[in-house]
Amino acid sequence: ASRPAPSYLESLNPEQRRAVEAIDGPVLVLAGAGTGKTRVLTTRIAHILALGRARPSEILAVTFTNKAAREMKERISAVVGPQAEGMPWLGTFHAIGTRILRRHAELVDLNPDFTILDTDDQIRLAKQILAAENIDEKRWPPRQMLGMIDGWKNRGLTPEEVPSGEGQWFANGKGLKLYKLYRDRLKSLNAADFGDLLLEPIRLFRANPDILASYQSRWRYMLVDEYQDTNVAQYLWLRLLAQNNKNLCVVGDDDQSIYGWRGAEVDNILRFETDFPGAVVVRLERNYRSTSHILAAASHLIAHNEGRLGKTLFTDLVDPDALPLTVASSWDSEEEARAINGEIESLHKKGTTLDEMAILVRTTAQMRAFEDRFVTAGTPYRVIGGPRFYERKEIRDALAYFRVTVQPSFDLAFERIVNVPTRGLGQQSVRLITEAARDREIPMLLAASDLLATDEIKGKARTGLSQLVASFARWRSQLDTLPHTELAEIILEESGYTDMLKADRSADAPGRLENLKELIRSMEDFDSLPAFLEHVSLVTDAQGETGGEAVTLMTLHAAKGLEFDVVFLPGWEEGLFPSMRAMDENGQAGLEEERRLAYVGITRARKQCFVWFALNRRIHGMWQAGAASRFIDELPAENVMVREEAGYGGIGGYGASRFDQVETFSSSYHTPGWERAQRRREDVPRRERRLPLTIEGELVAKSISDGPAAYAVGDRVFHQKFGNGDVAQVEGNKLTVDFDKAGRKRVIDSFVTRA
Ligand code: ATP
Ligand code: MG
Repeated sequence: ASRPAPSYLESLNPEQRRAVEAIDGPVLVLAGAGTGKTRVLTTRIAHILALGRARPSEILAVTFTNKAAREMKERISAVVGPQAEGMPWLGTFHAIGTRILRRHAELVDLNPDFTILDTDDQIRLAKQILAAENIDEKRWPPRQMLGMIDGWKNRGLTPEEVPSGEGQWFANGKGLKLYKLYRDRLKSLNAADFGDLLLEPIRLFRANPDILASYQSRWRYMLVDEYQDTNVAQYLWLRLLAQNNKNLCVVGDDDQSIYGWRGAEVDNILRFETDFPGAVVVRLERNYRSTSHILAAASHLIAHNEGRLGKTLFTDLVDPDALPLTVASSWDSEEEARAINGEIESLHKKGTTLDEMAILVRTTAQMRAFEDRFVTAGTPYRVIGGPRFYERKEIRDALAYFRVTVQPSFDLAFERIVNVPTRGLGQQSVRLITEAARDREIPMLLAASDLLATDEIKGKARTGLSQLVASFARWRSQLDTLPHTELAEIILEESGYTDMLKADRSADAPGRLENLKELIRSMEDFDSLPAFLEHVSLVTDAQGETGGEAVTLMTLHAAKGLEFDVVFLPGWEEGLFPSMRAMDENGQAGLEEERRLAYVGITRARKQCFVWFALNRRIHGMWQAGAASRFIDELPAENVMVREEAGYGGIGGYGASRFDQVETFSSSYHTPGWERAQRRREDVPRRERRLPLTIEGELVAKSISDGPAAYAVGDRVFHQKFGNGDVAQVEGNKLTVDFDKAGRKRVIDSFVTRA
């Protein structure tokens, strides 16, 4: 007579239970989305602890994100109590790698307090190395060099192990040499980059069999979630450590492999059975997450991929009220954001909490329209897995250029971009400018142009700086003559900023360029550069982090493993999703990875999934009539409901007839989308443009459109540092202002604007 199974096992289906109870030996769980793979891992850990087969510190559990690690800890605690809190080896590969390296730092030529470099640090370092080697960083961008090195690290290769011939293409055969130099430099700085956190432990284990042996026996059980997205280095790591006891359990889904572009190898799944003969292979087929409509739609879509291991999925969630997938269209991306926000508001009224709703986008540039809409509508939202749109580096850089053009006295902005892209200005030159500006209480841009009249700044720095100063003067003179979107484009071109990103071959560079295009596109709704900048200040100001309920906005890539009641998938248009770039670069394989991403998106939804597309989108600066994504065509008609606005083409124009269910709503209740889009562009009030300062070697206060910008007693003004205040006295270009917060100050009139 056996004892009754503990309750946490009772809640599992027989296959899940098999995966949990097969404690010893290798186990591979290969199963579709929402079948409980993560739940199996969590329960398995709880089970091992409950049986006393290992202490918390003897279990190694790898998750894909830190967030997933925290959630897993919480769930284990719910079963076995607080001992789960003491699981030091539950985390991402990078977190675990760091921990190992700190313990054995000397053995890999580091001190235990080594620093982990972020991307900016890495780039700076790469630049120094390229410069020292006399390699032109314009032809051979630092990011490209880092991408090459990272590729080797992801494959677990030290410079000595790189196969001969590789890296020849870079800088006339210098690729490998640069890897060595970069590596030496990191060591001398006592620093590691992200790739090292994987590579160095492998090197450590290989060179020190005793240390490897100690970890092999320390970790009695090893578990890995999202196994389909491990790279070669991670696989080597696991294989080394599991060699002895072979207690390695991995769970994954080949259909959700979406990081091929970052070196992940779905082949690791196939290799597992070869490297660990006799592995228990468990397939889970019952999906516990989604309604039958959602599941059918996702399964039908992914069946269009050829390179699959193949799985079936079913659900017992038979709910007669289950809603089919909704496919809807909007006039353009603003209308799409407006419509989705409206949908969110109405679902919220009917009882779905905001936390249970998510918008999953293909590219970060798509977030901008949603963030603007949410701020305007007062819908609380959070962006997960990356900065908000206006906080992204490239956006802040671009805005800094625009700000200095509009308001040359804005030193923070000037400082930000004075050497971005690099124009030969070292810290030394920047310090000179800052000091000159501070001493004479003038803006940095003006101080810079003064310095150019002296011999303080020489050589490359001088050329770079004088070009920049002249450019700002030119752009400023164009403020009134050119349409502001055009000027913005010119600024980014002439400053060399776009070229810098174009030359950059790293994986995120194209996304950054898209973000910039989106920024310029969004300006169209405003009448002038100053009006647009004011809007941005207001939006960023309203973006306080919400502690309470909020809609989630994130990329499809970041959404892996998560679930929500309601999921919105906007931007399903050819070229955007599937992404043109993915297809151009990787052909059929690229398209299949895009389709897996679509599969990941749909399967995040428990109850309702909305697929959306815009009829017009600006691609590469041109308005284009969007074609609905081929993925929409690949959805099964019987699980889809098309929502159409009567009166204009919508999806009907593209062939809604293929779908059985079409819900038409009349536009008589409200203005049709296209008309609203039209009106939006005309409605923006024309604002007075008052420009406090021009730079032509001297300080001149003038207004472009309406006479001199003289201030009078009683005028309300705004000062960058002191805030708002009232003018109390005027003497030439000096004002005495009673600031609301800072009190009475004397300032130069060019430093203030009308409040
Ligand atoms: P993904 O591939 O998206 O990562 P997954 O396979 O890891 O999905 P889980 O997240 O573990 O799936 O589970 C999906 C949902 O189903 C969760 O809400 C989970 O709690 C629930 N679930 C899993 N197994 C069971 C079960 N046996 N009984 C009830 N609910 C379950
Ligand atoms: Mg999971």
